[in-house]
Amino acid sequence: TRRNLQRLRDVPSVTRDGIAVHLHANIELPAEVEGVLQAGAEGIGLVRSEFLYMNRESLPSEDEQAAVFSTLIEHMKGRPVTIRTLDLGGEKLGDALGIKPGANPALGLRAVRLSLTRPALLRTQFAAVLRAARRGPARILLPMVCTVEEVRAARAVLDAVVADFRAAGRPLPDPIPPLGVMIEVPAAALSADALAREADFFAIGTNDLTQYALAIDRTDEAVAHLYEPLHPAVLRLIHFATGAAQAAGIPVSVCGEMAGDPRLTPLLFGLGVRELSMASFAIPAVKQRVRRITQPAAERHAHRVLGQPDAARIGALIESFDAG
Ligand code: PEP
Ligand code: MG
Repeated sequence: TRRNLQRLRDVPSVTRDGIAVHLHANIELPAEVEGVLQAGAEGIGLVRSEFLYMNRESLPSEDEQAAVFSTLIEHMKGRPVTIRTLDLGGEKLGDALGIKPGANPALGLRAVRLSLTRPALLRTQFAAVLRAARRGPARILLPMVCTVEEVRAARAVLDAVVADFRAAGRPLPDPIPPLGVMIEVPAAALSADALAREADFFAIGTNDLTQYALAIDRTDEAVAHLYEPLHPAVLRLIHFATGAAQAAGIPVSVCGEMAGDPRLTPLLFGLGVRELSMASFAIPAVKQRVRRITQPAAERHAHRVLGQPDAARIGALIESFDAG
């Protein structure tokens, strides 16, 4: 009910034994920001910046992007806003970029790979975020990272943009926004210990992580029935990446569809995740679930799940899990 949702918006997202689980919102279009605070989000964990490049023939300028990001950050009144750099290519094509899809677009020139081959594009996005970040806390997120070299290359571009601002006497935000990486390719998950030394935070993208771990095209109906985030391989990748982040002392969130499924909240919490980012509408139900978790029970549950051989048994354990 509406009353219930309103009550939930104002109660904290903490487990029964007092551990905070930060619930953030994902947005794809600026207009969605209206529902974010209403849902009780503590921040925006993922701004998909693709909309800026779609359905148009020219590239968005630094001014245009800075204005959009500033509006989002101001709207969030001091809560963090995580802006992901362009994630085009693959199933998302940008008209303004004139990308021709290869035979396997999901394995082609997309996301951070595309940004690094067109550094002017990345410089424009970084400059726009630096300008907007003077209005409130922002974080920068790189999609589809596979190697530490990509993180170093992107950071070099960010450092160069910061140096340009200084040289031109343009004001900078304090702090400079942290630079995080999406863990959404198995190679990134399995080298998360190395990536954690280069990145300021991780965001695990379970949609692509599932696609790439299982070799299932997210958009291909013929194999949709084989798309299974509860495959043991996917959960082990999440577990490894979360452990690497914890060992390195950097924050880690989950921002794929799994984050918004309340049945999976105890499992993700038990794997060590303390920040979830999801479509706003999912936040109240996930918060309700958080408030029934205890850490020992969730950790036992995660341990049991990780010992299962297949998604069917994992699904059965999840259905029968009772946080009490
Ligand atoms: C993901 O891959 O899980 C993710 C959050 O990114 P997108 O869905 O935008 O690819
Ligand atoms: Mg993704």
